Amino acid sequence: MVELTTTNRAWFDRALRVIPGGVDSPVRSFRSVGGTPYTVVSGEGAYVTDVEGTTYVDYVQSYGASLLGHAHPDVVAALRDAAALGTTFGAPTPGEVLLAEAITERVQGLEQVRLVSSGTEAVMSALRVARGYTKRQRVLKFDGCYHGHSDALLVAGGSGVAQLGLPDSAGVTPGAIADTVVAPYNVVPTLDDSFAAVLVEPVAANMNLVVPRAQFLAELRAECDRVGALLIFDEVITGFRLAVGGAASYFDVTPDLWCFGKVIGGGLPVGAFGSTREIFSSLAPQGPVYQAGTLSGNPLATAAGTTVLSLVADADLATLGARVASFANALRSTIEEAGLFAQTPHVGPLMGLYLSREASDAPTNFGESKIFADNGLYAAFFHAMLERGVALAPGAYEIFFVSLAHGELEFERTLDAAAYAARRAREA
Ligand SMILES: *Cc1c(COP(=O)(O)O)cnc(C)c1O
Repeated sequence: MVELTTTNRAWFDRALRVIPGGVDSPVRSFRSVGGTPYTVVSGEGAYVTDVEGTTYVDYVQSYGASLLGHAHPDVVAALRDAAALGTTFGAPTPGEVLLAEAITERVQGLEQVRLVSSGTEAVMSALRVARGYTKRQRVLKFDGCYHGHSDALLVAGGSGVAQLGLPDSAGVTPGAIADTVVAPYNVVPTLDDSFAAVLVEPVAANMNLVVPRAQFLAELRAECDRVGALLIFDEVITGFRLAVGGAASYFDVTPDLWCFGKVIGGGLPVGAFGSTREIFSSLAPQGPVYQAGTLSGNPLATAAGTTVLSLVADADLATLGARVASFANALRSTIEEAGLFAQTPHVGPLMGLYLSREASDAPTNFGESKIFADNGLYAAFFHAMLERGVALAPGAYEIFFVSLAHGELEFERTLDAAAYAARRAREA
């Protein structure tokens, strides 16, 4: 146990000495909102508690990895049972088969998955398969979509990359991104037969929330088919959250390759990429596309993931979506009553928040989202929320992750805090 005798500042100072920027992932730093991050010692359901003993209603939820909320008793029990049997072997285990079955059974058209340890790995590997299978090189991604930090995809990324104001990353060679083409979200690009794949977040959730316009995904599917490119859905956020069958079922558009992460690990490091048996016949050991991982499909992670999937049904996600819809509307009115304008776009359980001083429509692409992020209102709102016990993500390009553990009590607390925070932001 960590003793609660110290401060967030003291922990962060210690962190700064031995961890670059004090964080193991840049989105956790308060770089874009200012101030000192709270250091978390524990979480339970919708709440996290920091080293000073302050408890917050948590809308970070590990950026969406905790769909059931923190420390769900069934997940904790599954982990305890799995840990006692040994945590990694380098040989096939029943756990990985169970998780792969759970995933493929739930997602229409998905025949096989390979488990990895992060969303980054899942997308990186899916892209390699797409290139290997089509024997083509170029890939198209959309401006402001984040697909992990592999070299080829660190161009015009959202989330932390955008928060830090980086167009892309130093250390990535021009060669590594030469075959990556970037296009604006919500506009169907014209492809040709040099494209191996189009990679898309079916709902863009790393440039705040940008809703795909009706038919965007269906038209992308048709354009890929026209030139023989593969369509890759990065469902790291949408998978098992929009619906049990993910965005593919929610929008009724079937991709060629799927990428998962976050939810399917139940809070442990897991990713997965999936496809048909035909496309995956190109993957080693059957085919020439190499991909591997020492800890891939490890028993702890698969036990947690399988438990989460077994506990979440479409009805739960639909109920959550309805609760988020009414919360989004209430949050918007609360903020507007306090004298600011707000947009709270939502799709199923996914929800964004845009603050502005003038009335404005919800963004449809990264350029429009950036206008809101740059108006500076979010930082003031964020800190005032934190002061009132509500933890939002420390950056204007993130979304609200509402877990299945969030209920009316938490929403009411959040709305009370938001009334205060909107006034503070307005005056800032
Ligand atoms: C978080 C995220 C990733 C990367 O997953 P990691 O587990 O952080 O590597 C990829 N794609 C999307 C859409 C994400 O939100």
